[in-house]
Amino acid sequence: APQRAARQEAFDTQALQRLDSAHFLHPFTDHAALRKRGARVMVRGQGIYLWDSEGNRVIDGMSGLWCVNAGYGRTSISQAVYQQMETLPFYNSFFNTTTVPAVRLATLLAELAPPQFEHVFFTSSGSEANDTIVRMVRRYWDLMGQPQRQVIISRRNAYHGSTMAGASLGGMDGMHAQGGLPIPGIVHIGQPHYAQEGQGMTEAEFGLHAAGWLEQKILELGPDQVAAFIGEPVQGAGGVIIPPVTYWPEIKRICDKYDILLVSDEVICGFGRLGTWFGCELMQVQPDLITFAKGVTSGYVPLGGVLVGSRVAQTLIEKGGDFNHGFTYSGHPVACAAALENLRILIEEKLVEKVALETGPHLAATFAGLASHPLVGHAESCGLVAGLNLVRRKGDTVHDCEHFDSAHAVGMICRGHMFDNGVIMRAVGDRMIVAPPLVITKEQIDEMAERIRFCLDQTLIDLRSRGLV
Ligand code: PMP
Repeated sequence: APQRAARQEAFDTQALQRLDSAHFLHPFTDHAALRKRGARVMVRGQGIYLWDSEGNRVIDGMSGLWCVNAGYGRTSISQAVYQQMETLPFYNSFFNTTTVPAVRLATLLAELAPPQFEHVFFTSSGSEANDTIVRMVRRYWDLMGQPQRQVIISRRNAYHGSTMAGASLGGMDGMHAQGGLPIPGIVHIGQPHYAQEGQGMTEAEFGLHAAGWLEQKILELGPDQVAAFIGEPVQGAGGVIIPPVTYWPEIKRICDKYDILLVSDEVICGFGRLGTWFGCELMQVQPDLITFAKGVTSGYVPLGGVLVGSRVAQTLIEKGGDFNHGFTYSGHPVACAAALENLRILIEEKLVEKVALETGPHLAATFAGLASHPLVGHAESCGLVAGLNLVRRKGDTVHDCEHFDSAHAVGMICRGHMFDNGVIMRAVGDRMIVAPPLVITKEQIDEMAERIRFCLDQTLIDLRSRGLV
C-alpha cells in the first residue's frame, strides 16, 4: 500500500527544484550550474530501476553511489529497521554497554571476512572509517614502541572519503586544493593505471613497476617512519582502475619486507562487488585492516567500519588500555539491524557467487562488445564494475588512442545523453563507468548495454555537430 501511494503521488518538480536550490547544498556540486539546470528528483526505486518525479524510469547503473548491492525495494530490510526502531532505536556502545544487533553483526562480519579478521570497529561512513584507520595505525605503532612510525602512504587519484583525514588519504588534487590538505604524515605514490602510465611495458611488468613505487617511497622516507599503506583493490571513484594481477601481491611483499601495515579500503569493493566477499580475496592479498561501508547495508541506512586483523587487534586489546576514539553512532542498532538483513539477503540469494559465475562474466563480455563502438577506445570490467574510455580515434593498443581535449568535457556530454535516455553512468574524465546492483540479471545487463550503445551513438552525433570528431 505505501508503494502504491508513492506511485500515485503527483510531484511538483519545479517547486521541488526551486526549494532544492534555495536550501540544499549538495555534495561535490557546482551550485550555480545546478541552479540553472535544476536537480533531478528521484522518488522511488525497485530492483535496479529508479523513477523520477516526472515518472521516467531509469536503470541505475551506479547502485546509487556504489552501494545499493541488494537492489531497491527490499521490504525485509525496511521491516528489520522498523522492528529495531520499535524495540530499541538507539543505545550507545561507549560505557561498557552493547546492543544485540551490534554484537550479531560483528560476529557475522568476522565469519564473512578473511580468517585474520575477528574484530570490527563501527562507524557511520567510509570517511569516518578511514579516519579511524589513521588513528588506529598510529596508536598501534605507539603501543609497539615505535611512535615515530606516523606516515601513511596512499596513491594519487585514490578516493578515501571527504573528512580531513579521508580527503588527505585520497589523492584527488581538486580536494587537496580546498582546505589546506593533505594533513601532515600522509604521502602519495602513483596509481597502477596501465592505460595512463604503462606505455612500453606488458601489464604484468607494469604491475611490478607500479608496486615498486611503494618501495621507493618507503626507502625515501626511511622504513622506520612508515606506519601503513592504504589502497582500494580496484580504484572506484578514480575511474574503475583495475590493477594488473601482479600488483597487489607485490605490494604485500613490500609491506611485509618493511613490516608496514597494509590497509585495504573496501568501501566499494566489499560485499560482493568484485565477485568475492572482499576485493582483497580476488587480489589474493591478506591486509591487516579493511575499511568498509556502503554495501554492508546496501545504503539503506548509513553504516561503515574497520575490520581489524589479529596483528592490530591483539595489540590494541592486550597492551592498549583506552583507545580514545569513537562516534555516538558506532554500532548504531538500527544500522546494524539493516546490515544483518542485507547480508542475509546477499548470502541466501547467493549474490556474491552470482557475480563471480554469472553476471560478472556477462558484464565483461557485454563491455568487450561495446569496445567495438567507434567512440570507445577500450573497455574493462572486474566483477560488477566496468569502465569504457571515450576516444577521438581508436588505436591498436590502449596506449595509442587519440584522446579528446579534457576542456571539452566529453565524458559529461556522454553522461548527459545517458541520463536523458534512461541509464545512469558516471563520468570520470572521459571514462564512463558502471557498478549496477548485484541483483541485476543477464537480461537486464543486455537491456543496459543496449541503452548505453544507443547513448554512445547519440553522443557521437552530438560530438560531430560540435565539430569535436
Ligand atoms: N573509500 C572509498 C574507496 C570510497 O569509494 C568512499 C566513497 N565513495 C569512501 C571511502 C568514503 O565513504 P563515505 O562517502 O561513506 O564517507
